[in-house]
Amino acid sequence: MGNRSSLLLREEEIAQIQQETGFTPNQIERLYSRFTALDRGDCGTLSRDDFLRIPELAINPLGERIVNSFFQGDIYNDRVNFCQFMNVLAHFRPVKKNKDDRLNSREAKLKFAFKMYDLDNDDLISRDELLAILHMMVGANISEEQLTSIAERTIIEADEDGDQMISFEEFCKALQRTDVEQKMSIRFLN
Ligand code: CA
Ligand code: CA
Repeated sequence: MGNRSSLLLREEEIAQIQQETGFTPNQIERLYSRFTALDRGDCGTLSRDDFLRIPELAINPLGERIVNSFFQGDIYNDRVNFCQFMNVLAHFRPVKKNKDDRLNSREAKLKFAFKMYDLDNDDLISRDELLAILHMMVGANISEEQLTSIAERTIIEADEDGDQMISFEEFCKALQRTDVEQKMSIRFLN
C-alpha cells in the first residue's frame, strides 16, 4: 500500500524536501511510504496517535516529548504534514562530514535535545525539569533520593553562571565530549 501512495509525491516536492533536509530521493520515497502507512484515513497528515504507532517512539520513554516536537510544541496544532514530518526527522539523520547542513548539524541536534528537557519552554533547564526527564528515563529502578542527587549534581556541574539553571550554552559545554551525532541518529531512517 505504501508504494501506491508514494507515487503521489511529485518530483518537485521531492526536490524541495531534499534541499531542505538533505535526505536522498530514495530515503524520501521510503519515508513517504512509512508516513502514508501511519496515516490512518489517508488525510495527508498525521495525528499524535498516528505517531505513537511508530514502535521506536512508543517504547521510548521520551516518546511523547519527541512526538510533541513534530507539532512544534503547539497544542492547537494537531496534525503534521509530510514536509513538517521530514524537517523534524532530519534532526535524527546521522551527521555527514564536510556538509553544511542546517537541520542536521551538531548544534541543531543539541538544540533539539535541549528542547526535550525544557518542558516549560523558557529556554532554561531547571532542576525539576531534569528530575522529570530522569523519572521518564529510568522509571522505578532508582530511588527518589538518588534521582534528586543526580539532578542536583548535573545542575551543579553544568551551571557556570550560578543561577541554578542550565542554559543552552551551558548544556552544549556539558555535552562537549558526548557523541551527540551518533546518539541522536535513530534506526527509523534505515
Ligand atoms: Ca525550562
Ligand atoms: Ca546557569
